[in-house]
Amino acid sequence: MNLPDTADVVVIGGGITGAATAAAAAARNASVVLIEKETGPAREGSGRAQGSLRVQGRHGSEFPLAQEALRLWAEAVAEADFEFVRGGNLYFCTSEDELPILQHLVSQAHTAGLAEVQLLDADQVREIMPCATGPFLGAMWSPVDAQCQPEKGTELYIRRAEKSGAHIGFGVKATRLVENRGRIVAVDTTVGRVHAGAVVAAAGVWTPHLARTVGLRIPIMAVIMSELETRPVEPLFQQTIRAFGFGARQRPNGRVVVSAGLNAKVTHSVTLADLSGVRYWLPRAMSFRNNVKVAVDIAGIMRQLRHRSVLSTDLVPHESPEPPCDRPLVHSALDRLAAVVPDLKGVAPVRYWGGLIDLTPDGLPVIDGQVGPDGLTVITGLSGHGFTLGPVLGEIACDLALNGHTNRDIEPFRLSRYRGKVSQPEMMI
Ligand SMILES: Cc1cc2nc3c(=O)[nH]c(=O)nc-3n(C[C@H](O)[C@H](O)[C@H](O)COP(=O)(O)OP(=O)(O)OC[C@H]3O[C@@H](n4cnc5c(N)ncnc54)[C@H](O)[C@@H]3O)c2cc1C
Repeated sequence: MNLPDTADVVVIGGGITGAATAAAAAARNASVVLIEKETGPAREGSGRAQGSLRVQGRHGSEFPLAQEALRLWAEAVAEADFEFVRGGNLYFCTSEDELPILQHLVSQAHTAGLAEVQLLDADQVREIMPCATGPFLGAMWSPVDAQCQPEKGTELYIRRAEKSGAHIGFGVKATRLVENRGRIVAVDTTVGRVHAGAVVAAAGVWTPHLARTVGLRIPIMAVIMSELETRPVEPLFQQTIRAFGFGARQRPNGRVVVSAGLNAKVTHSVTLADLSGVRYWLPRAMSFRNNVKVAVDIAGIMRQLRHRSVLSTDLVPHESPEPPCDRPLVHSALDRLAAVVPDLKGVAPVRYWGGLIDLTPDGLPVIDGQVGPDGLTVITGLSGHGFTLGPVLGEIACDLALNGHTNRDIEPFRLSRYRGKVSQPEMMI
């Protein structure tokens, strides 16, 4: 792998955040090197997402970013087919006790200026989605939301970056951020050093390992979320769907992608790394104890003991192993979806997968260009809903890397918020 030994911007990570950053920086005539440890793009979070591009159902501080990102996704349609469909998003309410939560989400959306978000009764929902003939009470409806096939969306940004002259290094792992007199000056990689004017660390769940090489602590917990995909069925619905217990979208090829939806149960492998974040995670673990399946990762602990570190970059796998899928959970999600959409009863799954999510204690992303040495931007902690934001995160990272500031409001996402009292998210995911 021959990479230039100097670049204006070195981007670490070939998921949607890194790809969009490389594309934005190269389009602004910066010389760019993107480093990705896997042999292609979107092999971790970004290639495993459900592909729902939604504004609604996130914290109000993220609404402006999500709205801008959706606009950028829609513009990208002219460039390539990435299965973009603007079908809107329905949050189903299947029991009385869920209603106040949806009412709260609607009022949050209205406060943030999303006037088009509405609470519909079951008959109104069936006008939008006639196949929803099973029992439910109503749904929160956002007509502007969309969906796409996430690995294709990421590839689009990688191609855009390459066309604008960025160098993409697949199969190259970043091993250390190099600092000199308070400024980031280079990235050490498995194929040598790349000198850098600025560095964007967009390495998903592994970002804390890189950050640690310059003394930074970023509280991220890696959890696994599960998905399945069915065999193709006749076209039934174009909306993305979320509810307590199921989430889904139907691809243009007829396959239905299903997750456990709102507040989904996730899996976490406990290692020694968890000890250092107890202050952040204990309150969240108590609130969401029914949402996390915990298993002790003995092999992981042994590796940490061997390396005498819980955050050494030696512990970052060159090619990540397949995260296990919780099949009973996604089967039950498919059954619950089929109760609302009876045409899906008995439809066989043909693919299962799990994906690592970079969870933060408050469920909000970390987007910051004022952490650690000058010239370092960190974007991580997208907490299970960051694929949507990718295009705008790329613009923000590029602003921070090239100009040192951005006009978008990133104050709620600064790392320094963890110095004070950490707020609790309303949902697990
Ligand atoms: C099952 C599942 C479903 C989801 N569904 C949705 C959804 O419907 N909508 C939504 O908006 N979001 C969803 N998400 C969340 C979304 O996938 C992520 O928030 C987003 O893709 C994160 O993108 P990223 O580029 O920041 O990180 P990633 O895609 O994880 O990319 C980080 C990259 O950095 C690379 N890397 C790490 N360390 C190094 C290193 N040292 N050197 C070189 N490379 C390195 C990794 O290999 C990886 O490719 C889902 C996530 C999962 C797991």
